[in-house]
Amino acid sequence: MLKNKTALVTGSTSGIGLGIAKALARQGANVMLNGFGNVEAAQAEVAAFGTRVSYHGADMSQPEQIEAMMAAAASEFGRVDILVNNAGIQHVANIEEFPLERWNAIIAINLSSTFHTTRLALPAMKEANWGRIINVASVHGLVGSAGKAAYVAAKHGVVGLTKVTALETATSGVTCNAICPGWVLTPLVQQQVDAKAAAQGISNEQATRQLLGEKEPSMQFTTPEELGELAVFFCSPAGNNVRGVAWNMDGGWTAQ
Ligand code: NAD
Repeated sequence: MLKNKTALVTGSTSGIGLGIAKALARQGANVMLNGFGNVEAAQAEVAAFGTRVSYHGADMSQPEQIEAMMAAAASEFGRVDILVNNAGIQHVANIEEFPLERWNAIIAINLSSTFHTTRLALPAMKEANWGRIINVASVHGLVGSAGKAAYVAAKHGVVGLTKVTALETATSGVTCNAICPGWVLTPLVQQQVDAKAAAQGISNEQATRQLLGEKEPSMQFTTPEELGELAVFFCSPAGNNVRGVAWNMDGGWTAQ
């Protein structure tokens, strides 16, 4: 379905980004990866689907590096047809103790990078009259949790930016939507499970059950594969007029 299309997925060396990159490659898309994880392993996993895979190591907190990455994608593949804004970090602390440097980094990586990639990708998408912008927000783009001020502010910002992008492209073949996962067991969440286990002197399994039990009625993690298939749906013809949604895949978290 996505043969001859190119997807750029930020933060795709692990977790959700890698899951989405693989799902798009399975549909035939060429992929440019980005992120600071195990690049060779991620490239090999995506290349297994037989499409072209490349990598750019831009730091999503640095607008000039984002510009270089978008230019590299354009010169290597002609154009970015599918932009998946996924790179993200987390820091948990109450507002009074929140380190300024972490606040600035989370806003830059989780929110501002999406503005930069979007503004740089839109001209070619509009010219081609086809494009998909998929912003990986979070349930924290829809509801708050104590201790996550920067993350919740950034993700609510991503949901807002998604709506504006969808409105500014509404009469074109370009769509923009957000995905709002609940808990997904990736390195980002494993760190939170480990911190909980250490703080309370409980096992990893108990900490995992507690984490899910506090928020997620299904008591199940959403998987990167499931999120990848939602991204594929947004790229399909059935997604042509799906615009500006914040689609939760959260085991019932935000239904409560
Ligand atoms: P992850 O830690 O596995 O992946 C994050 C990716 O971002 C990695 O490839 C990492 O190298 C990259 N990254 C981090 N800082 C970067 C920077 N400055 N520049 C470029 N790349 C950078 O985590 P994940 O859980 O897969 O998270 C992916 C996205 O999904 C994030 O935006 C996160 O907020 C969101 N999300 C995750 C969950 C969850 O439960 N795991 C839930 C909702 C939303």
